[in-house]
Order: sequence, then C-alpha cells, then structure tokens
Amino acid sequence: MLNELTKTESSDAISSASRGMLIVVSSPSGGGKGTLIDRVLKTVPGVNFSVSYTTRAPRGTEQDGREYFFVDRPTFEAMIERGEFLEWANVYGHLYGTSAKQVAAERAAGHDIILEIDVQGAESIRHKVSDAVSVFILPPSFELLRERLVKRATDSVEDLEKRLHGAPSEVSRYKFFQYVILNDDINRASQQLASVIYAERARRERQEASLRDALEDFGAATAQEARATGSKNQI
Ligand code: 5GP
Repeated sequence: MLNELTKTESSDAISSASRGMLIVVSSPSGGGKGTLIDRVLKTVPGVNFSVSYTTRAPRGTEQDGREYFFVDRPTFEAMIERGEFLEWANVYGHLYGTSAKQVAAERAAGHDIILEIDVQGAESIRHKVSDAVSVFILPPSFELLRERLVKRATDSVEDLEKRLHGAPSEVSRYKFFQYVILNDDINRASQQLASVIYAERARRERQEASLRDALEDFGAATAQEARATGSKNQI
C-alpha cells in the first residue's frame, strides 16, 4: 500500500545545499542492511539514524527508541492524520513510518540522516525529497536471504514466509535506486556505502554554501585582474 501525501509531507520537497543529506537505504527484509548501516554509523562522522515508528512488536533485544518507536495502531493512525510522517507504508501487515520532524531537525542541524526503509517508502521519498540519495542493498542470492532470515529466528514462520515471498518483487525495484551494493562481503559492502556518502558530500551543488568564501575570493581576484589588464591596455 503506497502512502498518501499530506501537506507537511509534501512540503519537504525542497533542495538545499546547506542541509544535511537524506540517505535512503533499502533491501528485502533480511538483506543485511541493518549491519551495514551500523558499521557506517560507527565509522563515518556526521551521520545519524532515523528511528522509525512501527506497529509491529519488538523482536529479540530491540529497545523502544533505539531500533524503533513501538506504538499501537490507533497511535500510528493518529500520527498519519496529523501529517507527522515524511513517509509511511504497510509492510507485511505492519505499519512503519519516518518521523518528518526528526528528519527535518537532523538536516537543519547539518547532519546526514540514514533512513532504513522498504521499497515503497523509498519510492515516496524519491517523489518528495529531490536531493535524497538512494541505495539498494542486494543480497547475493535468494537462498542466502532465506538462510539469514531463518538464522535470525525472530520472525514467526508466517512472517518469514511473507518476507521471502515478497523479496523477488522488492529486488525487481533495484533499478529505481541511484546506487546498488551487492552484500556478499560485509567489509567491502560497508566500505562501499561509506564511499557513497563521502562522494555525495563532495558534489558541487551540496557544497555551494561552504565553498562560497573561497569562490568569492577567486571572483574578486578575477575582477581585479580584469581591471589591471584594462588599465594596461589603456597605457
Ligand atoms: P523489520 O520488521 O524487519 O524491522 O522491517 C520490515 C521492513 O520495513 C524493512 O524492509 C524495513 O526497512 C522497513 N521499514 C522500517 N522502517 C520503515 C519506515 O519508517 N518506513 C518504511 N516505508 N519502511 C520501513
């Protein structure tokens, strides 16, 4: 089920060079994006994690406010009504949503923020946030994905089947992402994700504000030079 836009949600479709980046990371459930993101959060300074809201129950050692904010369905629906989500989606029967307020606050503070969300959420963000960076994490095979999900042993058999069944269709949407990382080696894959962040930070349009002093300096030098050449020609 794709999301409905609200006023607050669509108003985020602004591009600004002075704000932190919004990085969307998607993969099928069990694709290993959580581990990759954890590595990047530890190794790349200035990146924070967007803690989503969900109606699903906590799994294993998950803590409220760390992996997710766990809320009941009426609370989640009231948040939708109030336009508090930048995006939200129904994923395998549970609702998941990104807090518009948290993302806006982090970006305004100049921090990059990673959204670990499903392909539907990634699609909403693509339409609303023009300067978002999108990364798809591709598990090396369906069999490996199954093994990971079984090993995780935190989902019911029914949930596991739903996730496996949905994986091929999620993977088929890899082509809508700017970057694809094959997750066959956790070290290489996490370095690649870090490289994407560093490369995106170096984009000219993201740096206009921080480069202004240096550029103005050269602008002034060029103008002075033109004046000097002009007066020489007159002599
Ligand atoms: P899980 O239940 O395994 O933690 O997450 C199931 C799926 O929901 C994963 O693909 C995860 O990335 C996605 N998800 C987590 N938070 C959000 C969110 O805020 N929005 C959307 N659209 N998907 C999310």
